[in-house]
Amino acid sequence: MSNNSEPIKTLHGLPEQVIFCSRCVMNNQRPNTSREFVKKDSNISTAGFGDDGVCDACRWYEEKQKIDWADREKQLQALCDKFRRNDGRYDVIVPSSGGKDSFFVAHQLKHKYGMNPLTVTWAPHRYTDVGWRNFQSMIDAGFDNVLVTPNSQVHAKLTRLAFENLVNPFQPFIIGQKNVAPRAALQYNVPLIMYGENHAEAHNKIGENYSPLMNIEHFTRENDDTELYFGGVNIKDLKQYSIEDKDLFLYKPLLAEPVRKAGIEVHYYSFYYNWSPQENYYYAMDNSKFESNPDGRSEGTYSKFSSLDDKIDGQHYFTMFAKFGQGRCMNDANRDIRDGLITREEAIKLMNKYDGEFPKKYFQEFLDYIGISEERYWEVIDKSRSPHVWKKVNGEWVLKHRVS
Ligand SMILES: [Zn+2]
Repeated sequence: MSNNSEPIKTLHGLPEQVIFCSRCVMNNQRPNTSREFVKKDSNISTAGFGDDGVCDACRWYEEKQKIDWADREKQLQALCDKFRRNDGRYDVIVPSSGGKDSFFVAHQLKHKYGMNPLTVTWAPHRYTDVGWRNFQSMIDAGFDNVLVTPNSQVHAKLTRLAFENLVNPFQPFIIGQKNVAPRAALQYNVPLIMYGENHAEAHNKIGENYSPLMNIEHFTRENDDTELYFGGVNIKDLKQYSIEDKDLFLYKPLLAEPVRKAGIEVHYYSFYYNWSPQENYYYAMDNSKFESNPDGRSEGTYSKFSSLDDKIDGQHYFTMFAKFGQGRCMNDANRDIRDGLITREEAIKLMNKYDGEFPKKYFQEFLDYIGISEERYWEVIDKSRSPHVWKKVNGEWVLKHRVS
């Protein structure tokens, strides 16, 4: 609170009081990113903290310990038995980046459960070299793949709008990514889609973890498209940015009716299997030529095997840090604390070392890609820093609240 009765103005609809989870190092400033395509401002916050100061993700971890995984595997067997085809057609779509997690899912479904998966990939903005090699390694490990690459003129314009208006350069990627697998499911007549982790584990409401299914609201609309927003701009106003209706095919969510009619079910593998990013990494190394970050770690964190494929990944995390005080290292550390890989004290040391490290490796390429100057970049970033999160000390931005 400020020293008089006037509340501090917070940006992005964030809660004024910054608190940290007492178990992991998560703060309560995380946004809810579902159904971004109907929001003018994508940065609506969900606190996701219990009265006892424990975050939803940690609470969920506790719940997870009670799960009977043998029973869950039986449910997975039954699901595969229901959808398995023996006539040569694909019987499951695995949305896949070529990363360790989707590799694990596709490989297990094929080799352990006798399924015939089609992997479907929504291309990164700009492949990193290691990302491209990992993508090829997945195919080399024995999978058919459909790669969907959006027109980069349109994608870059949408990314610029999302950066300048929402400070969320990943929004068009995420919106498009959600459509790719369901569209392939319709095109190839494959009603089962298997994602990896239910991101409710980290981002959304606990309740979503009790279902194996993704709510189709996440990637469909009921009827007309007049309520859609891309990069904070209503669809009818995109013409002023030289984006035509026909440019938006890959971004518009599917109509719900044909999805329901085709009986499409979108499941999460993490409902059926005790999911571990670290184990998936070892699995991908053992079963393909998967490589971790050749630099030894990714910028802004200590980890080396997640989000490697897109040159813009670093900007995704850095904008989250500017807006919410949540760095890439914090995100990795939360997970690793829960998985018992590091202690909370170690996490704090790592955050002090890495959080907020600027992703400079591909910075110029990012600026060139969206067509803005470095000056404009910092103008957007600094405007996005909420006064309840940041203060300026000797000309440097520093976080007001740090985990301790
Ligand atoms: Zn927590």
